[in-house]
Amino acid sequence: MTPTQFKSHIRKSIANEALQIALDNNTQRRLKGRALAFESLPDWRERRQSARSIRADVISHLDEYRDQFIAKVEQNGIVAHRAQDAAEAIRIISEIIGSEPKLIAKSKSMVTEEIELNHALEAAGQRVVETDLGEYIVQLRGEKPAHIITPAVHLRRHEVGKLFQEKLGIPYTEDIPTLTNTARKVLREVFLNADVGVSGVNFGVAETGTLCIVTNEGNGRMVTTMPPIHIALMGMERIVPTLDDLALMLSLLPRSATGQKLSVYTQLIHSPRRVDEIDGARERHLVILDNGRSRLQHSSLQEALYCIRCGACLNACPVFRELSGHAYVGIDGSIAPYPGPIGSIVSPGLLGLEQFGHLAQASSLCGACKDICPVDIDLPKLLTRVRAGNPSSETQNAQSKGIGLSWMSRVGLKAYGMIASSPQLFTLSQRLAGIGTRILSPFSQWMWIPAFTGWGYSKDFPRFATKTFREKFHHTVRAAAGGLHATNNGGTPVRDGKDTENEEIFGKEKEEKKEADAPKTQGVNLVERFSQELEAVGGHAYRVKQDELSKRLIEFLKERDINAVMMWDSIPALNESYLTEAGVRAERNIDPTLKAGITGALSAIAETGTLVIPSGKGQPLGASLLAEFHIAIISSSQIVWSLDEALKNPEVRNASAAALVTGPSRTADIEMTLTIGVHGPKELHVFVLD
Ligand code: SF4
Repeated sequence: MTPTQFKSHIRKSIANEALQIALDNNTQRRLKGRALAFESLPDWRERRQSARSIRADVISHLDEYRDQFIAKVEQNGIVAHRAQDAAEAIRIISEIIGSEPKLIAKSKSMVTEEIELNHALEAAGQRVVETDLGEYIVQLRGEKPAHIITPAVHLRRHEVGKLFQEKLGIPYTEDIPTLTNTARKVLREVFLNADVGVSGVNFGVAETGTLCIVTNEGNGRMVTTMPPIHIALMGMERIVPTLDDLALMLSLLPRSATGQKLSVYTQLIHSPRRVDEIDGARERHLVILDNGRSRLQHSSLQEALYCIRCGACLNACPVFRELSGHAYVGIDGSIAPYPGPIGSIVSPGLLGLEQFGHLAQASSLCGACKDICPVDIDLPKLLTRVRAGNPSSETQNAQSKGIGLSWMSRVGLKAYGMIASSPQLFTLSQRLAGIGTRILSPFSQWMWIPAFTGWGYSKDFPRFATKTFREKFHHTVRAAAGGLHATNNGGTPVRDGKDTENEEIFGKEKEEKKEADAPKTQGVNLVERFSQELEAVGGHAYRVKQDELSKRLIEFLKERDINAVMMWDSIPALNESYLTEAGVRAERNIDPTLKAGITGALSAIAETGTLVIPSGKGQPLGASLLAEFHIAIISSSQIVWSLDEALKNPEVRNASAAALVTGPSRTADIEMTLTIGVHGPKELHVFVLD
């Protein structure tokens, strides 16, 4: 595979109509969802800059933070390992698993894709099952993920229907809930019988040794809770200093990735199961991977390590939106583990310029990726550095060759360099280009020249501007100097040299800032807000008087024909003898056949409709995870406003694991269609005691 063949790969993607529909679907919904989610965060600009500073600080002092993190992880009882490269990580993981054939349940993790873990384990005779719905689908097809957040983004429902018919033996259907339910049944057996669970890590918290794992379906919770051994693989850059910093990152990551205020399940893992607990992995290992990150840290691409893998830059990129991840191939034809704008930097940065350097050419450098990035990574700047071909040097070598460029492009760029460095030549070239484009502009819709450029397969050739930038600029300056009311060519009113549209925008920003600076809870009824947010994510909240709780709960269970429940030992205001008298059996052990689980919670978060559920003695994690119905009972006094307040509770960091639950389990992995109840509970009901 050469860069020229890479282009033919691109043309194939652009000409694939089904792929184009699937990608458009994904992009529109993701971008719309993201915009809506950020509306609820008026201070997002400040948060973005704070997040960037935190990431910059961590990457500049990575050794110190990593040592602090590892010390804390080990103190908590998790076995920490360090791997220099993919081979070492695979060796460590293989040794933990052992040579006997095992069933390995795996949750989605891009870093395991990076080291091709599945391939290595399967070659050693292990059975590895991906449990994220999108990953499961691509695994059944023998493919790699096409997107870092939505692995099956390239597929339509009929393709998944045919796949399940062929591989799982079910009658052909295009009904997405039926397909999802089929995966639920098959994968439930995997969770319950797996010997080992393998996961990634979204963030590691240096001050507490917390492993934070974020999922929507519940598979992340399953693989870290049900199998006796849990192995987490983490890129060494994924550290944040404190739980406060984690709360900040969590306010940006799900909004950017999936348009949610908080993902359905945010797990905070601190230690293996404790002696008095009845579920959770008995043995936990953390493998911290370098695999080129140290090299990247000391290169001019260092900023790429700030990435929190939200995938937003892929959705925003006009090139990725036409290609999907499978078009991002290396010189040897292998698919890059990380595609899109960030992938075109980290794939060559981690795995070699020779192999993936040409991917950086797959960008228009429009800047949409930088604009959308929640940690404000200057992706266009980094892409140009990869193109320059010398990222290991702090200062770019002007003589270095452009990676992946044809000789024609090099000659063209050289000519452009000469013209652009002479104001006279540049003005003349603009005039000539202006004349040429005005002649061609009326015929632009017929400029369908795919064999040469690929343009025209899926979008019209753009109309040319009627005036050059220089002409517009001079016109505006003249008008402003005369104190006249005039318009620039974009139609924005200009008054006394000021742009009223910008005034409006900045005025709005000031208002938003004022709003952000005001105390957030002023005048907010926490119970009402919690209930609204919970309903918005598909849960249900009921306000109940303490002495009515048992009666209301029994009515609830009887209406649903539930006669046995998995339950915490002690739940405030719940009189268990009433349940027994009403013929409802309260089970203390983990029983996946039970239809309902009843838990309390440590606290609840009004801003996002989230429950904070810790593990502990008499508090099995399975009660909020395995059953179809999760019923939680909280007191109104337990509701706090925000995630950072909830994380300040010392009981969160003292728990072996805590789950932040925001609604019932969900997925949108097939055609971006929201489907409730993939692996975790299908319904979440919260009784709030007055
Ligand atoms: S570069 Fe920014 S937008 Fe892209 S995945 Fe990373 S954090 Fe998200």
